[in-house]
Amino acid sequence: MKIARRLMPVVVLLFAASVFAQKGALKIDHTVSLTEPSSRQFHITTEIGNIDQPQLSLSLPTWAPGWYTVENYFKNVLHFRVTDAAGKDLQPRMSRKQTWNIDTKGVKSIKIDYDYRATVLALNQAKIADDYAFFTGIEMFLEPNGHRNDPATVHFKIPAGWNIISALKETSDPMTFIAADYDTLVDAPTEMGKFDVTKFEVEGKPHYFVANPAGTFSKEKSDKFVDYLARVAKADSAMFGGLPYDKYIEFYFFTPAESNASGALEHLNSFVAFAPTGDVATPDMIIGTAAHEYFHLWNVKRIRPAEMWPYDYSRENETPLLWVSEGFTNYYGTVATYRAGVTSEERFLQGIASAAAGVESNDARHYISPANASVSTWAGYDTPVAFGISYYTQGQNLGALFDLSIRNDTDGKYSLDDVMRTLYNDHYKKGRGFTTEEMIAIVNKLTKKDYHDFYNKYVWGTDVPDYDTIFGYAGYRLEKAARQTADPGFFGRVRSGGLIIAGLDPASQAAKDGLKNGDAIEEINDKPVNRGDLNALAGKDVKLSISRGGVKQTIDTKFGSREVLSYSLVSVPTPTAKQMTIRQGWLKR
Ligand SMILES: [Zn+2]
Repeated sequence: MKIARRLMPVVVLLFAASVFAQKGALKIDHTVSLTEPSSRQFHITTEIGNIDQPQLSLSLPTWAPGWYTVENYFKNVLHFRVTDAAGKDLQPRMSRKQTWNIDTKGVKSIKIDYDYRATVLALNQAKIADDYAFFTGIEMFLEPNGHRNDPATVHFKIPAGWNIISALKETSDPMTFIAADYDTLVDAPTEMGKFDVTKFEVEGKPHYFVANPAGTFSKEKSDKFVDYLARVAKADSAMFGGLPYDKYIEFYFFTPAESNASGALEHLNSFVAFAPTGDVATPDMIIGTAAHEYFHLWNVKRIRPAEMWPYDYSRENETPLLWVSEGFTNYYGTVATYRAGVTSEERFLQGIASAAAGVESNDARHYISPANASVSTWAGYDTPVAFGISYYTQGQNLGALFDLSIRNDTDGKYSLDDVMRTLYNDHYKKGRGFTTEEMIAIVNKLTKKDYHDFYNKYVWGTDVPDYDTIFGYAGYRLEKAARQTADPGFFGRVRSGGLIIAGLDPASQAAKDGLKNGDAIEEINDKPVNRGDLNALAGKDVKLSISRGGVKQTIDTKFGSREVLSYSLVSVPTPTAKQMTIRQGWLKR
């Protein structure tokens, strides 16, 4: 069914909008009501018709694709009740922590009612504030098991005077949207209330930049930012041969997130991002993350590891390929901003060198391969583990090394772009994910070489690449330097209350001097913490002004220091003709 669905989205959507008479398909109608924002609760009514089976199981997801953390959304559900067409209570029996079984023998339609508490503004949570509300379907919509490909309708009831924008497909009724199937339904964020919208077009398709709080990111900045977004979209579109969506939405919150799920999160035809406050954020500051999230609409939303095809929303979906899904997306974020003319050649090359330095500065790179880092992410996706390395940086570094190796092996005829296009055309468009072996086969076919050794060393293994050989394919070598950076002994996140301490090293001086996990550092040396230059404090005595459980106190301690590598790519003195061919292909825009 996936093949037909993926190949004929237009047909399926028309079908969804009109009849719902697809054989065996349920008729599914969700209504999301928000009558009183101060209650911080949505009321959801799900009406399911066309039932022709003795039992129906209904599940709520436990995690949101792209944010590899189990959240158990059921914990936010109140007053869960199931009735039949006559209003008689049916007895839902839980079989798993997020699944209810309903006896539907002789029952053609049921209605499920529940409230959903929405109190956390975060990428993978729902929030109702006084003047806006935000959620993504994954947190709130039930899946009738065995009916993932059935379409659904979503109706909204929102406070008077509020606006609404949703990544779901619009209908003639501004309060009604549709989704072709459950995966599409739950991958769509919706925002209602007060916010700014800048509409722009790319290749004839509508795009919407949504900024919240309204009025904080100026019109001048918004206009410049959407120009950047459009240029990046065109660069990526040129690589893949068109934009595979009807509309695209960039949801921005220029305010701190209220959980660890800050940063940005990709969806099928949208992304959600947190950015510094509107007076601080600039288009140049936020376009890098935007280019990363946008590239995800191909890489991970469509080009997807086989272990996540289809998604299992009931539990962790481990895959050894997130170094491709995230790391190559990092790489192509820098490629796209460069190709779009948003960033310079110098900055592009510096980004490549920085990724290499980021990997080589981390001792964990000698123990944890990119493949293993990918699988183990579920142990600490948004919370630091004691000893780890990011497959984002590992994969970004590998992206450049793969790209240059393929270009060198094919005398500039093919590149990593061809691998991505093949994954898109031969896997996604044929309704399937990809495995490591299938990816190797694609690279081998393009290069007429065997890349198993490359994977053994750098993907499954922890060998240090011979950078000067591989960067040398384009006539570059790595110039290496080292500098001291502060090692405060903790990991923190900037929140409205200050820098919240998360991963405190018990052996650090700060811990010995009394700092604890959960403390909020409000000032360092009497300066606001998010403005201070931590690196300048390497090895220095510092005064931390903290708040612990609302009680303010100061801790005098000392930050440690550690050496980090600083790399730059420099041209060899006299590049050969082949080196110049590879370089020009790599830097073409
Ligand atoms: Zn990402």
